[in-house]
Amino acid sequence: MTQLGRYADATPEPYWRETVASPVRAPALEQDTACDLAIVGGGFAGLWSALKAAEQFPDRRIIVLEGAQLGHAASGRNGGFCAPSISHGVSNALDRWPSEAETLIRLGRENLDAYEEDLNEYGIDGGFERPGKLNVAGTPWQVDGLRSMQAAYARFGIQTEFLEGRALDARFNTPKYHAGLFEPNYALVNPARMVHGLAKAALARGVTLCENTSVTGIKGTSDGVQLVTARAMVQAKQVILATNAAVPLLKRLRPAIIPIFDYTLLSAPLSDEQQAAIGWQGRYGIADSGNQFHYFRKTADNRILWGGYDAIYHYGNARDAQLHDRAQTYARIEQNFDATFPALNGIGFSHRWGGIIDTSARLTAFSGTAMQGRVAYAMGFTGQGVSATRFAALTLLDLLEGRDTVRTRLRMLSRRPMPFPPEPLRSLAVKWAQRDLAREDLTGKRSLFLRALDKAGVGFGS
Ligand SMILES: Cc1cc2nc3c(=O)[nH]c(=O)nc-3n(C[C@H](O)[C@H](O)[C@H](O)COP(=O)(O)OP(=O)(O)OC[C@H]3O[C@@H](n4cnc5c(N)ncnc54)[C@H](O)[C@@H]3O)c2cc1C
Repeated sequence: MTQLGRYADATPEPYWRETVASPVRAPALEQDTACDLAIVGGGFAGLWSALKAAEQFPDRRIIVLEGAQLGHAASGRNGGFCAPSISHGVSNALDRWPSEAETLIRLGRENLDAYEEDLNEYGIDGGFERPGKLNVAGTPWQVDGLRSMQAAYARFGIQTEFLEGRALDARFNTPKYHAGLFEPNYALVNPARMVHGLAKAALARGVTLCENTSVTGIKGTSDGVQLVTARAMVQAKQVILATNAAVPLLKRLRPAIIPIFDYTLLSAPLSDEQQAAIGWQGRYGIADSGNQFHYFRKTADNRILWGGYDAIYHYGNARDAQLHDRAQTYARIEQNFDATFPALNGIGFSHRWGGIIDTSARLTAFSGTAMQGRVAYAMGFTGQGVSATRFAALTLLDLLEGRDTVRTRLRMLSRRPMPFPPEPLRSLAVKWAQRDLAREDLTGKRSLFLRALDKAGVGFGS
């Protein structure tokens, strides 16, 4: 009989939910209604949009339509790394939008500062902390990658600290990694507390929230947009689509993203001795530098959240609920955990869960409008949407109002990414890319296929 890993004893639900003392629950929409702004999706993007719209237009009727529960998808399942970036990092900005990289990098850092100010202003206890992030390298070419990363950061005046030997051991002491780059300006949040904090702030400003209200159709009318739900119709003057990795309501957006599953294990709380044994004394988050990378951080009660590595695509964009639990992946990432933390002697796992990432071929979000400018959408955040959704919300409101701003002028947001090919080519392309990315992690050599994708400006990651 095969022995199951320790992951098998873990609760198969996102841990974050248990940390919310009084979650916001909202009724389903039962009757036809009219409003100024309808927002489809009750994750970070939808809730930031609702809150910012209520702030900018206090007299407008705003309604959020969430198909399941607020934060049930990516916004309640993520690692809570809250980046000072809207471009999936400095290197991604430089590679894909060299001419606007400086603006993107500045806006990303300003967005994180404004994010923190907003939490204070709205009184949201989202577990926000800014302890920094340690990027670690386990191979010589990854160490070179960290040096290039440091040089790229320095070009934009961003301070980092390169760590090796004892200096690294003092921050993180494991046999797996040989160098680190510490970036002090990086935040963490508690995702579920952020969701419910945003929801409460939106409610307090008069926004109507509806859960269990899936929008199944959208069409333009003479004076607005009509949304179809199971029990009622919504007539809205304007609509924001914030549906992330779900099947987009606008058909033309469907080839622009693919759903990639990402999985997490959460350890039992670590004692002070256990934290000392792994040399991880601070609160900073950590991520390794592989193509297949792990990201890890501590919760408020010092559990290790261990996410990433596997990025699973299922044929035909399958998004079925049961795919959120994947023994094969948990077994693999448990092994990686044990190799990284031998000093923890097989500590138990309390929770395991999966979530879907809306991967775009550029690893960043894009936005746009439809139906004579009455509908605005943003998607494609690709694993770095915790802070970028706040920026996207402001962009969506700019777009609906027809404002010409620094946000609406960004090519990164206004140009749609390269579409993914249809099946069966899509599955094959993802499989080839993943195979070559895994090989590159072992050999440091980038394949011809990946170099061709680089040339075409197409990336694959989570
Ligand atoms: C496992 C995992 C780890 C991650 N870790 C990080 C991280 O550490 N840092 C980071 O920056 N990012 C991370 N991300 C990405 C980040 O979570 C997302 O980019 C972000 O939450 C996207 O927010 P959203 O509101 O656009 O999407 P979601 O939170 O997915 O919300 C979309 C909502 O729309 C609803 N919806 C969809 N279609 C309809 C419809 N037709 N009608 C009504 N409702 C609908 C869904 O039910 C859902 O609640 C991670 C993602 C995952 C899955």
